[in-house]
Amino acid sequence: MLKIGVLLGDDIGLEVVPETVKVMTAAAAVVALDVQWHELPIGRRGHELHGHTMPQETVVALDKCDGWITGPIGHNAYPRNDPTWIMPPLRKKFDLYASVKPVKSYPNLPSLHKNVDIVFLREVSEGMQASGTVVAGSGEFRPNDEISIGTRVVTRRGANRVAREAFEIARTRSRKKVTSVHKEPVYRLVCGMFAEECRKVAQEFPDCKLDEVLVDGFAMKLVMNPQQFDVVVTTNQFGDILTDEGAGIVGGLGLAPGLCVGERHAMAQATHGSAPDIAGKNIANPYAMIMSGKMLFEWLGRKRNEPKAVKAAELIDAAMDKVIAEAKQLTADLGGKATTVQMGDAVAQALRTCGR
Ligand code: ATP
Repeated sequence: MLKIGVLLGDDIGLEVVPETVKVMTAAAAVVALDVQWHELPIGRRGHELHGHTMPQETVVALDKCDGWITGPIGHNAYPRNDPTWIMPPLRKKFDLYASVKPVKSYPNLPSLHKNVDIVFLREVSEGMQASGTVVAGSGEFRPNDEISIGTRVVTRRGANRVAREAFEIARTRSRKKVTSVHKEPVYRLVCGMFAEECRKVAQEFPDCKLDEVLVDGFAMKLVMNPQQFDVVVTTNQFGDILTDEGAGIVGGLGLAPGLCVGERHAMAQATHGSAPDIAGKNIANPYAMIMSGKMLFEWLGRKRNEPKAVKAAELIDAAMDKVIAEAKQLTADLGGKATTVQMGDAVAQALRTCGR
């Protein structure tokens, strides 16, 4: 049995997260996977119930879950001065060290390129982001008004575990290729350590191929010929930029799911924000959130050795492909007229037929 937390978040989170739970529940039912759902307050609801946007009660409950689905947090949705800094502390608390972001094109949806199917892994617990690399103080400082200094941290453990996750994912895919993106010739020690760990891990995965591309060249190749890439692993700051570039080449925010993974937990989280401008209108595209939930099933299937969860993820994937190819129940941003609920219903319905 899998225990999955449900954090609705704010604004369109209240609409796209329930569609995700609907689709995941339907997939679990088809494969007879036992899932226990736990709805836990964060964001505005957390503030109303417990006086905090990330209540301690929620953090304690999350620790007992195998993983959770997190809706976007609405930075404008709170009373003045209420804490909105939620996701980075949550990632730190549960040591969610990698952000996994697929970039996939669909034949009938507008995108700069077709036949793109990449999975990015961005290390998110170290690198240049000051708050993530220190227990006290900051990784940035300004000794006087003329100089600012920032640090960049790469550890063997940090590089090794994100590389390992990349190869584990590559192993489940047909091309079985990992591209490690760095700039070792310039950043000999930090990028060098990252590159070394990728090479080390590659030796444990003889069925997969390791390729190495320098980050500047990679940025160009991604724009010109993204089809050549399968799984891509990189450090925090490079990944921050490249994953947005990746989302851009296949259609932008509405089509950008994500999963933050740790050693014990994973958190499904779409790339888009809470989109207050379209909240409450039942028009938000649930794709990114639903596909983030699908990734959680995939991850749980792999880590908890639960083939039914892997199967449930495959069903959601096939159902989404079908709904997009038929183009009858798509939200307005995808060129359709369907509501959020209608698109969610269509995916849930399609997966029941895919499962037969
Ligand atoms: P944040 O600061 O919380 O990341 P943001 O304003 O930078 O938020 P989003 O909230 O993601 O970014 O919204 C940017 C725009 O993209 C919104 O105005 C909205 O119109 C559109 N958008 C975002 N997510 C979706 C979605 N799921 N479906 C349809 N449109 C969306």
